[in-house]
Amino acid sequence: MQSFQPPRRILMGPGPSDVSPRVLSALARPTIGHLDPAFQDLMEEIKAALQRLFNAPDHACVPLPAPGTAGMEAALMNLLEPGDRCVVAVNGAFGGRMADMAGRAGATVVTVDHDWGLAVDVARCEAAIAEAPTKVFAFVHAETSTGARSDAASLCAIARKHGALSVVDCVTSLGGIVVDVAGWDADVVYSGTQKCLSAPPGLSPIALSKRAQAAISGRKEKVRNWLLDFNLLMSYWGGEGGRTYHHTAPINALYGLHEALVAIFEEGQQAAIVRHAQAHEALVAGIEAAGLSMLVAARDRLPQLNTVIVPDGVDEAAVRAHVLKAWDLEIGAGIGALKGKVWRIGLMGASATPWHVRLCLTALCEALAAQGFAADAKAALAAADKKLA
Ligand SMILES: *Cc1c(COP(=O)(O)O)cnc(C)c1O
Repeated sequence: MQSFQPPRRILMGPGPSDVSPRVLSALARPTIGHLDPAFQDLMEEIKAALQRLFNAPDHACVPLPAPGTAGMEAALMNLLEPGDRCVVAVNGAFGGRMADMAGRAGATVVTVDHDWGLAVDVARCEAAIAEAPTKVFAFVHAETSTGARSDAASLCAIARKHGALSVVDCVTSLGGIVVDVAGWDADVVYSGTQKCLSAPPGLSPIALSKRAQAAISGRKEKVRNWLLDFNLLMSYWGGEGGRTYHHTAPINALYGLHEALVAIFEEGQQAAIVRHAQAHEALVAGIEAAGLSMLVAARDRLPQLNTVIVPDGVDEAAVRAHVLKAWDLEIGAGIGALKGKVWRIGLMGASATPWHVRLCLTALCEALAAQGFAADAKAALAAADKKLA
């Protein structure tokens, strides 16, 4: 065997995003014990920083030791018991994953299905929740498979109105658009490190309301997975009365998350959101000037995940292969209902910069030209530059 040297890559897909050198170097600091007093101080700092990042001062916030999907699994497995009713809004792949998990928890699952590319329909979800007593209403704030943003404030409000607990997937939204857990009065909100936080994949920050914690501690039967059982997990992360061994925290990964949080607060959360919005406006202007069009209606678009329709006669995979080979640039393919129909261009975290926008437009126009599609790279860059000025 030989040491693995990853090739140079510019990450503009649906995640992971580019990881900054400061986060990479934090990951390489010496490993210490997870019960070391210095590490316990780090855990406390991370908990407080996550409360600030989510705007969730009254929620319990911890990073789960696995990628974003673990947050989804923890939310549903902890809240749901066999026979509970769970309404899930499905407007893309991740809503579908939530419905699958809720079923595995033994819940009676009711899905509210949408065409891919649409925001979640608040009125249809409310009708489904109101039909019968509902324990949990789950939805995705930023649907990464389609690039659509949903109205989390209104969706959490209908859950509250009908006495259901809300579960909100903020894996792609956190750090890129406003996530306001206290303002939404949301119950369980989870995210991931590899999207707009620009740390490597492998951790899932999660926030639980007091209502959610009471529901979990009052369960009739034990949570069916051990690692993510919040009652056990908090004996480790809770800190009150001393920590007891539960699992061994992924120590170096937490150094990386900590550094990513330091970087976000240094820049300012609002400034980071504005940066994502500007990069998005520039990219869309360039895409449209190049003769391409966006899948999602302008008012529902996510800045951090841009779905671009593949024009007729263009080989979707060949374009991705071209930009990877010629520009070391990774963009994403469509999945599920959008397979072969769109490219997914991420502007997440450290990948949301003017440089990334200009590089992507240049590379994409070159790849399209190689396919015989006359994309005007000069016009695309000029249109983007106007928005970046
Ligand atoms: C990426 C993503 C996930 C899953 O996160 P992993 O880190 O891949 O496990 C869940 N939900 C949404 C909306 C995502 O974009």
